[in-house]
Amino acid sequence: MYPTPIAKLIESFMKLPGIGQKTATRLAFFAIGMDDQTVNDFAANLLTAKRELKFCVTCGNLTDQEKCEICRDESRDQTTILVVEDAKDVTALERIREYRGLYHVLHGTISPMEGRGPDDINMKSLIERLMDSAVEEVIIATNATADGEATAMYLSRLIKPAGIKVTRLARGLAVGADIEYADEVTLSKAVENRQEI
Ligand SMILES: [Zn+2]
Repeated sequence: MYPTPIAKLIESFMKLPGIGQKTATRLAFFAIGMDDQTVNDFAANLLTAKRELKFCVTCGNLTDQEKCEICRDESRDQTTILVVEDAKDVTALERIREYRGLYHVLHGTISPMEGRGPDDINMKSLIERLMDSAVEEVIIATNATADGEATAMYLSRLIKPAGIKVTRLARGLAVGADIEYADEVTLSKAVENRQEI
């Protein structure tokens, strides 16, 4: 119904989360109305972000260098690692400015239902980090979903025997809630009231 170039643009916008055909069509028509410079910048930014961003070799956070900004910051508390599912959760937790330790990004959860095991996520490197390190506490901040809980329990059983304290974010977060969408007060309280597991 539309000329191929715009049909393809609509298709591309529909790949974004939460964008249906109607919104994609509106965005596509808006985009072709933008001036050339804006369109060029938009396309270039998309390509540059995709090309230059990679995962920190230490913690798995997003970075454009070998190590992320947090891992490079020696003033941060090196005795605590906070474990999250996704790099977006690091941003959410950094926003509350209360946590000063390090992070580890799992890039997912283990999921007995979907057949995802520890080797399918960034877990091995966490265990390696804990060997001969100064880490005294691992705070598990996986989401309050069935898979998030399964991952927390698995990690706890693995890490505790090494004499490292394992804690879980307090239950201020609703069951099934994503860290990413939690408000700052809730998140702050959840970190503060974390409990040993
Ligand atoms: Zn890092």
